Amino acid sequence: MLDPRFILENVELVQENCDIRGVKADVARYAQLETERRTLQQEVEELSRQANQVSKSIGKAKDDAEREARKEEGRMLREQKDAKQAEIDRIVAEAGAIYSHIPNLTHPESPRGGEEDSREIRRGAVEVRPLRFPIQDHVELGEQHKLIDLEGGARIAGHGFYFLQNEAVLLELALQQFAVEYLMKEGFVPMITPDLARGDIVQGVGFVPRGPETQIYSIENFDLNLVATAEITLGGLYAGQVLEEEQLPIKLVGISHCYRTEAGAAGRASRGLYRVHQFTKIEMFAFTAPEQSEDMHNYFLDLECGLFDELGLPYKVIDIATGDLGGPAYRKFDLEAWMPGRGNGGEYGEVTSTSNCTDYQARRLDVRYKKKGEKGTHFVHTLNGTAIAVSRAMIAILENCQQPDGSIIVPEVLRKWVGKDRIGATD
Ligand code: AMP
Repeated sequence: MLDPRFILENVELVQENCDIRGVKADVARYAQLETERRTLQQEVEELSRQANQVSKSIGKAKDDAEREARKEEGRMLREQKDAKQAEIDRIVAEAGAIYSHIPNLTHPESPRGGEEDSREIRRGAVEVRPLRFPIQDHVELGEQHKLIDLEGGARIAGHGFYFLQNEAVLLELALQQFAVEYLMKEGFVPMITPDLARGDIVQGVGFVPRGPETQIYSIENFDLNLVATAEITLGGLYAGQVLEEEQLPIKLVGISHCYRTEAGAAGRASRGLYRVHQFTKIEMFAFTAPEQSEDMHNYFLDLECGLFDELGLPYKVIDIATGDLGGPAYRKFDLEAWMPGRGNGGEYGEVTSTSNCTDYQARRLDVRYKKKGEKGTHFVHTLNGTAIAVSRAMIAILENCQQPDGSIIVPEVLRKWVGKDRIGATD
């Protein structure tokens, strides 16, 4: 969330920011309500002070008539106070509804516009390899080599769930090991995080825990939700805490399952493992001082590129346009890897996403830091980035590394964990 004072002092700028991000929020109305609330709050405090004074004076009344008059005066003051308080409650509800929709500010270089205006800013080190043989997609390859059982998953939990088996299990574990090892060398602290989180944490990070449009599965009769990403658990780790400046930046790499209802995703390409309800993700997360967050964001992007370059997979980097940033991100970069079996003759598909959320999440989660020798506290900045989202990385590997005989070459960096250099070799 934005600083309410900042909104009041910058109504036009904040409205313009909502507009370029395609968010419907009446910022002027919010400012008007907030100003009214502040005035009413002062009036309530004044009425409360007067009512206290009157009630103290009752004991000093010289006769019954004066005592009754003072009691009556106190009653009227309290009635006025209650009426104003009810008005404040109404205003707070209306202002709160607007406030919760106001998104983060936007990086000046983020492309303006909708999804189609997102801009390619970089290509990976590896070029797309032309495949001069009948291409199979990951579903066909998965069936051929008994790697992915989509029907079994559907029987157990419905469409969008799956079993991984045989070398796909080794590939999944190898991708996890590879990413964690890579990031530990960069000083990230590895964390296996809870797969469930309380509603206030889910909400603090910017997800909606319950409701028809939510991405989040919630557990009936418990204030618990299945996490959509370890961004939720890592982001919530220091909720309500004050960090020391010397602790920053804190760099974490979380391993978790991710559960998504994929509400509203009907019709979007979702064959096989592309858009599933459960997948494993290795997630980077950082808490920084404000002046460190832009560099950290570029560093996260470099790490994502480094991981996919090492896997030998072709990709492009997209600077996400304002209309597609969501609420918390100030700037967002996605990697899209080439998937030869996708669409008609191959398409790029999103494999990672990294966002600089500046102080937007920290304000909701109340994560602050203290500078040496200073009394006050400041909000930290938070950043997240996908290292490896396993099911999509698996698609890119299976489809890019397939050979004319249908076998799949295992990326060199994963061989020490998979234990072989080829899946489905005929010799
Ligand atoms: P997000 O946390 O939504 O930014 O997603 C991070 C990454 O997770 C994306 O870049 C995808 O690679 C992957 N991902 C997101 N949603 C799904 C899904 N439903 N199924 C498989 N992978 C997903």
